[in-house]
Amino acid sequence: MTDRALRVRQCRSALDMPAEEFRSLGHMLIEQIADFYDSLPLRPVTRATAPETLRTLIGTGELAEQGMDAGKLLADVVPMLFEHSLHNGHPKFLGYITSSAAPLGALADLLAAAVNANVAKWELSPVASEIESQAIRWIADLTGYHRDCGGLMVSGGTMANFLAFVAARSAVVPWDIRRSGSHGDRPLLTVYVSKRTHTWIEKAVDVCGVGIEAIRWIGTDGQGRMRLDLLRDRLQTDLAEGCFPFLVVGTSGNVSTGAVDPLRDMAALCREYGLWFHVDGAYGAAAAVLPEAPDDLHALALADSVAIDPHKWLYCPMEAGCVLTKRKDALRAAFEFRPDYYHFDEQQSGVNYYEHGMQNSRAFRALKVWLALRQAGRAGYRDSIRGDIRLAEALFALLAEHPEFETNSVNLSIVTFRYVPRGLESTQPAAKNYLNTLNRSVLAELQTGGELFLSNAIVDGSYLLRACIVNFRTLQQDIDAIPSIIAEVGRRLDETMRPTTRSEDSTAVAA
Ligand SMILES: *Cc1c(COP(=O)(O)O)cnc(C)c1O
Repeated sequence: MTDRALRVRQCRSALDMPAEEFRSLGHMLIEQIADFYDSLPLRPVTRATAPETLRTLIGTGELAEQGMDAGKLLADVVPMLFEHSLHNGHPKFLGYITSSAAPLGALADLLAAAVNANVAKWELSPVASEIESQAIRWIADLTGYHRDCGGLMVSGGTMANFLAFVAARSAVVPWDIRRSGSHGDRPLLTVYVSKRTHTWIEKAVDVCGVGIEAIRWIGTDGQGRMRLDLLRDRLQTDLAEGCFPFLVVGTSGNVSTGAVDPLRDMAALCREYGLWFHVDGAYGAAAAVLPEAPDDLHALALADSVAIDPHKWLYCPMEAGCVLTKRKDALRAAFEFRPDYYHFDEQQSGVNYYEHGMQNSRAFRALKVWLALRQAGRAGYRDSIRGDIRLAEALFALLAEHPEFETNSVNLSIVTFRYVPRGLESTQPAAKNYLNTLNRSVLAELQTGGELFLSNAIVDGSYLLRACIVNFRTLQQDIDAIPSIIAEVGRRLDETMRPTTRSEDSTAVAA
């Protein structure tokens, strides 16, 4: 077709869009997004809009018979999203482990959707498959893992850990578990994880039919790290009882406090017992880019598999998880099937990623990750991650010297602490329940207030506030403002909530 013929081409479907319209709507949208990024620090982190209000806003009607103009639709939805979303790119969003997303990632997702590669089979996605392979290699390189490892981009940490779990099971179990399963008189397969392990492990054993009872929750030390002595004891007991241990999971940066398990010693123990060693580095593995990272973080290189979330500390937009395996073919060995509706040309050497995991049709998630890695380079990631850790340490120091806070921990970029009002002796047994209730209320108020967004951790029965900094927009001035924001809320709530001191009242907690 000539240029002119292209321009006057008729749209046959309601979903098609003439190039002119796409161009003008697209330009407008990009303008709006650029303004949105600029205005983030001035916006509330969240408006905490009520569910009913949102339902009214989006409309409760049935799907219309007639379609609508695309420009009108965007004009409706853009302000709705900017006003009523929770902005995890806001400089004072420090809740959970959701990063501020690199703007280039948004452009990458637009581009990936435009090309719409299906990264299932190499022929369907030639460039995309090669870019995914390189992104996986680079993530391995960045974290000090094996350059020639296997790997796959997935939706997030849960799926990355899940795939590693399945790969471990296929690799270690001596019978053909893919064919015959683990029912009948097979021994009980057992898995060893610390008490602080993320809930993906429960989903994995459940879905794979291994069963929740297979999880051995190993106790942790005062820093929240798995205790090696307890791990060894439990392994020996299980072996003596005829179980079949196959997997040990270490976490590098657990979700509660960011603690890193003793990965080096765990790896040695796994070698001794012939077990698969998996590291859940969904959050923390990225920090292995820092030479000064804890030695145990660097020891993730000893793992048979590693999960890492580019949508956490590599600052990519949702969704981007990644699993790495030391043996290049470990995922394919666990997931490969060759259906007759796919043509296989043995000459072509490209990788067919559908064979490496659960998904068949797959999005081009690797693009935003690959572009982010190239945009920042190693040095850019070192600076951003180091910056987050320094801000976390600065926050810890500010809270430690403030009379109304009790600090608990700082690991990587996670700080845990609680608000303790003046005049309350936090070590009194009766104070414990009150402080849990008070801090729970403080968090609830912060999460709806819009000024500062934190989350919580529960450590040894204490309800703690938790700040996790995976946010390149957070500045020192944001950190400086935090103690007084929380203390103001804490004081106000304490005034109305604290039980009064009466000598006959056994629940009195005031000093
Ligand atoms: C976030 C996280 C997960 C889960 O990852 P998703 O991307 O939310 O699925 C698992 N483990 C750890 C340690 C995490 O921090």
